[in-house]
Amino acid sequence: MKEITMIDNSFALAGFTSGKEGIWSRNEPSDPPTNDYTALSEKLEIPLSRFIRPYQAGGDKVGTVGAEHGGSGVIKGNDLKKVDGLITAERELVLSIIAADCVPVYLVDEKAEVIGLLHCGWRSAAGAIIHNAVEHMKKLGAVPSNIQVIIGPHICAECYEVGEEVRSEYAKVFAPKELESIFEQREGRLYLALTQAIHLKLTAEGIPDNNISAVNDCTCHDTAYYSYRRGDRGKQNLAYIMMK
Ligand SMILES: [Zn+2]
Repeated sequence: MKEITMIDNSFALAGFTSGKEGIWSRNEPSDPPTNDYTALSEKLEIPLSRFIRPYQAGGDKVGTVGAEHGGSGVIKGNDLKKVDGLITAERELVLSIIAADCVPVYLVDEKAEVIGLLHCGWRSAAGAIIHNAVEHMKKLGAVPSNIQVIIGPHICAECYEVGEEVRSEYAKVFAPKELESIFEQREGRLYLALTQAIHLKLTAEGIPDNNISAVNDCTCHDTAYYSYRRGDRGKQNLAYIMMK
């Protein structure tokens, strides 16, 4: 088990954890909350009725959520279908997403009092999820130049071998020079640096370079985390953020 704090200041609290069991999703709407969610709720001293987990689909859809969504996907049926990004201006509402190698992206505009959390797989990283998230945040008063971003633990470019079809998809979106920085070629194999792709997408939305940071943890390298590439199935890590 491994748990790290991503943000803990007067404004927000955010973390990334494998949990003890790595089970964060309920199979049926009537299933009880998982033990890991219950433990996290006790640790944060926030009731599960103030936690949200969307039904992720590896797409571009982002939802702005409020108190009325509390408990969705955690203690009641998931009413956020095929949503991979959550934005809120509500305090003490815990946004969460599950990931096992995909990238959790934490967004904070302290001035506008708006936060967000995204689940980015390779498709979303090349897609519109970051654009959509920034648009949702702007509607709540956020300004790109004020948005701080932390790119959380995910599979690193040393571990993430991909096929040519991935580069072909990225070539539709990124310029040739950008592609050179996103893909690494080693011994005839192709590797994808998700951090770099996401960084480029963030700056394209007007978020300054200096506002973006990334943690070095790799979910595949570090066996304390769950990793799809390393063979974990049905077990994931959880990323979460809340405004205090
Ligand atoms: Zn790695």
